Amino acid sequence: MCGIVGYCGKKDAGNILLEGLKKLEYRGYDSAGISIIGESSIKTIKSVGKLNNLEENFALSSISGNIGIGHTRWATHGEANLQNAHPHLNSKMTISLVHNGIIENYLDLKKELIAEGYEFKSNTDTEVIVQLIDFYFKGNILNATLNAVKRLKGSYALGIISMDNPGELIAVKNNSPLLLGICDDGFMMSSEISSIVEHTNKIIYMDDLEIAQLNLNGKYKIFNYNLDEIEKEIKIMDLNTNSISKNGFDHYMLKEIFEQPHAVKNLLNKRTIDKRINLSDNFFSKEEIEKFSQIYIIACGTAFHAGEVAKFAIQKLTGKQVLCEIASEFNYNQKFVDEDALVIFISQSGETADTLMSIDEVKKIGAKTMAVVNVENSTMTREVDKVMYCYCGPEISVASTKAYTTQLANLYIVALDMALKLGKITQEELETYVDELYTIPEKMEASLKDLNVYKEIADEIKHEKSIYYTGRGMDFTSAKEGSLKLKETSYIHTEAFASGELKHGSMALMEEGTKVLTVLTQEHTLNKTASNLEELTSRGAYIYAITTYDNEVVSKNSKKIIRIADTMDIFAPMLSVVPSQLIAYYTSLAKGNDVDKPRNLAKAVTVE
Ligand code: GLU
Repeated sequence: MCGIVGYCGKKDAGNILLEGLKKLEYRGYDSAGISIIGESSIKTIKSVGKLNNLEENFALSSISGNIGIGHTRWATHGEANLQNAHPHLNSKMTISLVHNGIIENYLDLKKELIAEGYEFKSNTDTEVIVQLIDFYFKGNILNATLNAVKRLKGSYALGIISMDNPGELIAVKNNSPLLLGICDDGFMMSSEISSIVEHTNKIIYMDDLEIAQLNLNGKYKIFNYNLDEIEKEIKIMDLNTNSISKNGFDHYMLKEIFEQPHAVKNLLNKRTIDKRINLSDNFFSKEEIEKFSQIYIIACGTAFHAGEVAKFAIQKLTGKQVLCEIASEFNYNQKFVDEDALVIFISQSGETADTLMSIDEVKKIGAKTMAVVNVENSTMTREVDKVMYCYCGPEISVASTKAYTTQLANLYIVALDMALKLGKITQEELETYVDELYTIPEKMEASLKDLNVYKEIADEIKHEKSIYYTGRGMDFTSAKEGSLKLKETSYIHTEAFASGELKHGSMALMEEGTKVLTVLTQEHTLNKTASNLEELTSRGAYIYAITTYDNEVVSKNSKKIIRIADTMDIFAPMLSVVPSQLIAYYTSLAKGNDVDKPRNLAKAVTVE
């Protein structure tokens, strides 16, 4: 999603801002801009499209200064053009502002400001904020900002500079991520740590309804909205900047697919000791688990699919029913979660706005909360009772791969831990499961050896208008994940069907040559799904099967078979997803798409 950066210090701000924005590029954006406080005025450059355009404009300018703000915009209000690109300035051009988020009451505020004589140049919700700050400005940018943000409804992370207070940078947030870096030469602010780590490892995570005043004289203050000064912890981060490089791969997506065996192994090593589960206080006690009246899983996108796999695993291992809901649906539907429920949230970034909103809703009810998250110290990790990190390193590609498989590994561990504590499995049985989990990384490697089959399939499907995925039970969930991966990277319409559901309508879509990818890893449904393949091929479908089995019916009906290693049925989703990820990657490549940054999408979805 959009990113903001800011710098205030002894160095020249321009390059720091541009480099900072580059680190945020992967989140997705459609235009970009920077403002810097110059000798006598605020200098602003904006451009539509990629950051190179902004860089070129910057190189041609002679802008320099020690305080500035930058933005990559992912348009929510108003199209992606120069007028709507950030930063936005007041009419006197004395205040400049960048914004990530959505202002829900912007129309009311805009009417009010128009009545006061204000004129607007853009269609954004953001411009209202800068005009409102101007309205309240009486010589002190901190006070004016505070008065303005108190009027806002919605989400915002803001960076603000003012020509009348030329020695300071203001940072303020509510419901959008924002953190500060304390550098030797000054201060940085950013939506995420990646644009700060090169400058400092001293980080302050800002909480909602806090406002920071960063000064050129090396001093900073953080206040709540009553203007009481607050003391914030400075965290010393240990972040390896190499993990943010492509490491010889052509794309982050391919690198991240290949990192999965190591990432899963690394996670298992952290979560088990001598075949025993080792969660220390990361998870709930036997007594707490026994008291859970319900188990819910709430997430979005790929993380939601991880939740659906976990539902099967927890139900099978504990006998307890699990309900999965998409966060954006949960938030505005009638809620049946009660105060004795356990609710598990899953998010790569830990900043997913819809999921954060669900956490708020669930906390109001008083249920116990837990999150499976990759980005350390992200907002979600501070909102829930228990956190399980994925420890798979930064995931840069928009299409999630290694976060998914490490989310799964975490959730299998949770399911096993619950089953053991509830007496549903013995220690010996647990050891058998853990032993099998440890074989997964090597079995994943096997799918990464011969890439030609994925390239061939990509070549065969790249011109299709529609492609379907099918499967039953856990395989249906893997089919949904495969379908999502393929559609988001290739821009081909894809859809996943439950194999048994085809005959209730979707079968009408099948005609000579229709491409269908099918997942068959579950022993108890193999014969049924294989029969469904007969039904598909008799209508002309062209089948690619991702399977653990040498099954005659499957072989007879499939044009291509992608064999994956055998494992226990409940762990099969970790293996069957790898071919789907690679098919998605190579199809995107074959179509000449921007693999790591698919159109219209953003990595961390920080707006509802
Ligand atoms: N709502 C603002 C806009 O459309 C900010 C979007 C963003 O977070 O990039 O300009």
